[in-house]
Amino acid sequence: MNKNDSYDLVVKSPGRINLIGEHVDYNGGHVLPGAIDKKITLKFKKNNTNSATVYSKNIDSQFTIDLSNLNRSTIEWHNYIIGVIYYINILKPKSVKGFDCYIDSNLPLGSGVSSSAALECGIAKGLNELFIIGLTDIEIINLSKDAEHTMVGTKCGIMDQFAVVKGEKNNLLLLNCKTNDYETIKVDFGDYKLVLLNTNVSHNLASSEYNVRRSECETAMETIKAKYNEYEYLCDVEPQIIKEFKNLLPEKIYNRALYVSKENQRTLKAVEAIKRNDLDALGGLLYKSHEGLSNLYEVSCNELDFLVDCSKKYDQILGARMMGGGFGGCTINIIHKDFVDNLIEEISYAYRNEFSIDLTPIAVHIDDGVKI
Ligand code: ADP
Ligand code: MG
Repeated sequence: MNKNDSYDLVVKSPGRINLIGEHVDYNGGHVLPGAIDKKITLKFKKNNTNSATVYSKNIDSQFTIDLSNLNRSTIEWHNYIIGVIYYINILKPKSVKGFDCYIDSNLPLGSGVSSSAALECGIAKGLNELFIIGLTDIEIINLSKDAEHTMVGTKCGIMDQFAVVKGEKNNLLLLNCKTNDYETIKVDFGDYKLVLLNTNVSHNLASSEYNVRRSECETAMETIKAKYNEYEYLCDVEPQIIKEFKNLLPEKIYNRALYVSKENQRTLKAVEAIKRNDLDALGGLLYKSHEGLSNLYEVSCNELDFLVDCSKKYDQILGARMMGGGFGGCTINIIHKDFVDNLIEEISYAYRNEFSIDLTPIAVHIDDGVKI
């Protein structure tokens, strides 16, 4: 398959950032993501057979799926695609016919900018258009999430797929993950820029520990509900109430619950800070978020902690934190535009000295969601 072949349609599917509200989506909390200007490009054409052939330039590999016999693959990236087709066919039986798809991307894989959701939603959106299937955005969001849960095995929340599909240029989405209601929050950081620093490490704990955190939150919720039956999600429980359980929950579980409850509140405080243009307060919330993720929720790693500690040394950086599932990937930083290049150079140097790894900076702009 070649990118210069003729295709019937082209989909651009973005990655996402999350300014704050980490690991709260699956706890019914508030998150503040946005789609970004780094994207996966997917080119589709009908092939009039009963199979689909998909090529990824990033992996430099292709595979063919028999559409009448969809099975999980032993190769991870295949499963995002097989999963999406599987779930489309559950909603709209036999709607996916034979197609070829050529994938290329400038999103780093496995770095916390959600290349996975970009891939799922890009495939879903493309097939929906190619075969005039009639799926709604919310169906695309949910089936993409289901594909990741079942076929890949990551029990992710709804945030990533939501941001990829519903993102709007220059706006973050204040998404209530309990109701799926959202408000667009206009962002103009003035003299400041959002910059991701990719640690270029991806510790293999990421997906297993993700599911462990989910079940730890469920454990906390069982104990809390035994006393307060009115709460449905951990994010509904205020920090003062969580503190009543200090001696009733194992320390780890208590810490997880406290982090989640406070992080949910931080998201709401961050939105207030943005609305009154108080970037100092916003930056402080990012640092607090990181502290919680590192010390209470324990999903950070040395490389991420090092970068956030470095950021704290500079007045020109208002805030930084790890972003995404954790154990590697990127930090998100709010940096004064006049110092971006210098600071990146200094931090990259320090990082290389410490870990013998090159840092990749990624300047991001908040952009529209997936587009045909
Ligand atoms: P993240 O979503 O933060 O990038 P994940 O581990 O959730 O990290 O998803 C990364 C996985 O998604 C990759 O390992 C790969 O299986 C799949 N993927 C993402 N982008 C591509 C691509 N362009 N081509 C093939 N597979 C991709
Ligand atoms: Mg992902």
